[in-house]
Amino acid sequence: MISERLKEVPPQRFGVQFEAMREEIMARIERVCQKGQFILGPEVKAFEETFARWLGAGHGIGVASGSDALLLALLALEIGPGDEVITTPFTYFATGESIVRAGARPVFVDIDPKTYNLRADKIEEKINARTKAILPVHIYGQPCRMDAVLDLAARKRLAVVEDCAQAHGTLWSGRKVGTFGDYGCFSFYPTKNLGAYGDGGFVAAREDARALEVRILRSHGALKKYHHEKLGINSRLDEIQAAILNVKLKFLDQALAARRQRAHRYNELLRNAGLTEIQTPYEEPQGFHTYHLYVIRAPRRDALLQHLEKSGIGAGVYYPFPLHLEKPFAFLGYGKGLCPEAEKASLETLALPLFPEMTDDDQDYVVERVAQFYRG
Ligand SMILES: *Cc1c(COP(=O)(O)O)cnc(C)c1O
Repeated sequence: MISERLKEVPPQRFGVQFEAMREEIMARIERVCQKGQFILGPEVKAFEETFARWLGAGHGIGVASGSDALLLALLALEIGPGDEVITTPFTYFATGESIVRAGARPVFVDIDPKTYNLRADKIEEKINARTKAILPVHIYGQPCRMDAVLDLAARKRLAVVEDCAQAHGTLWSGRKVGTFGDYGCFSFYPTKNLGAYGDGGFVAAREDARALEVRILRSHGALKKYHHEKLGINSRLDEIQAAILNVKLKFLDQALAARRQRAHRYNELLRNAGLTEIQTPYEEPQGFHTYHLYVIRAPRRDALLQHLEKSGIGAGVYYPFPLHLEKPFAFLGYGKGLCPEAEKASLETLALPLFPEMTDDDQDYVVERVAQFYRG
């Protein structure tokens, strides 16, 4: 018998994670404070090098957020008014926002209902003379089919900017995402696979010239103080955030393995509970899914979410509205029916709590409560 409100499973337990790294993190923060170099110091430099090496990217630039990483990549490619960028509508708001902020028009391609990523085979029909780039998002940690995207981009001479905000460590054909396109954009928002204790972001670049362009743009268009070569923005990764990230990066592979193990255990628990009406996440055979989010497709989604919330479970919907139906994008003139699969997914999907520090007990409780909803 299930008693009332046995426990809570929050979406994250940051405190538990912090305790495991407390000494090293505090020591590094203190060192930054004593040194007094708070902007673009040795911690940022070390992080840029280490994270780029971990990715297998040629270069890396620390920036203020994942949203800025996307904007800077588009600005560096000189994408602006009159240009079009092809992307997915099933993503966080910032993906589409960065395109509009750059002055260009987002063109949406519908998603594959199994992977939730944009359909690479539907991109070509949206390409015209104004198209400048393809912006795939590796949603939830599942890789996009990058060989198809790259083939098309090469054939049509388009740039590729990867939104890897949810996909640190995700692989496609054994290679880390963020290293395929002209730019790979990462976020260190606290809940991401690699999270800072505040905002942070990163742009990975293959080529020297491309990397240099972002490095200049993130500091008001100047590489050397007061020597401005162009108009840029102020978007740098903080030294204190870099210090924290340098510590957390050492635990990243371990954290990703834990995410995958938890995801596979959810699959098993849901299957063993006989909950066949729930569609568990698909994994691309050529990919390595890192489960930033564990997303199921579930009947009566909204009622299930309510039931879980009442049970103290931090489930969530990512995302309740596809971008083409978001109010600030109404001026683009799109409407309902543009991307039916994305629209359907926004009504049917739900993320169960998944984070590296969660326990068997947490997961058992979540699945018990899901089963209770469907079976009484
Ligand atoms: C989090 C996220 C962003 C934005 O990153 P911030 O660091 O919060 O600015 C962009 N795209 C996707 C897919 C995200 O999940």
